[in-house]
Amino acid sequence: MSDIAARLKEIRETLPDHVRLVAVSKTRSVAEILEAWQAGQKVFGENKAQELTAKAPLLPQDIEWHFIGHLQRNKVRSIMPYVHMIHSIDSHRLLKEVAGEAERAGRRIKCLLQFYIASEETKFGLSEDEAAEICRDRELIHHPAVCIAGVMGMASLTDDQQVIHKEFATLRTIFRNLKEVYYSDNPEFTEISMGMSDDYPVAIAEGSSLIRLGTAVFGSRNP
Ligand SMILES: *Cc1c(COP(=O)(O)O)cnc(C)c1O
Repeated sequence: MSDIAARLKEIRETLPDHVRLVAVSKTRSVAEILEAWQAGQKVFGENKAQELTAKAPLLPQDIEWHFIGHLQRNKVRSIMPYVHMIHSIDSHRLLKEVAGEAERAGRRIKCLLQFYIASEETKFGLSEDEAAEICRDRELIHHPAVCIAGVMGMASLTDDQQVIHKEFATLRTIFRNLKEVYYSDNPEFTEISMGMSDDYPVAIAEGSSLIRLGTAVFGSRNP
């Protein structure tokens, strides 16, 4: 068994049934991704539009591609043929762009609202007020080409487990509040995307439904 297959097997054995694994394949070669695919992994995550559009056509069609990085509006059209879910909706304008381009491409794209939960400065993510503005946009909420399927967040880069627990708990609370206020009758609002290689056990304990693992699957990344 290859290293990638062995790591995938080990990870899968620890995952509860309700948690799905997104194998983060940024910087990885087509050959490495194929190795994971051959080991049964069908969901992959990329964080750059150019990288996704370069690799996706070379890989099996049954791969479910997730976009997990900051997405510029002028790149939305290029990923439409491939992307299944966008984890990183960080503005109202971006979601409108995705809706327009998805409609044009005849696609229906699942979208997650990205929140800013880490105590450290990061550039991307919605505040709860900005999210409320999106959720009150009835045209978007009922748009046929996008489906708001949940939330995404990243914890601080720290070894302090309590801080990480707290940040993931914050995201779960945001999810529950949104669900209660805006999505109580929407069966598709189900996803909490949180947890990376260093913190995914904590994320699962706090209710994650999608974990995004790069290093844990493929080994360490060359810068
Ligand atoms: C790179 C990346 C990951 C995976 O990081 P690892 O530490 O390699 O597991 C997860 N989420 C996002 C948004 C990323 O950019």
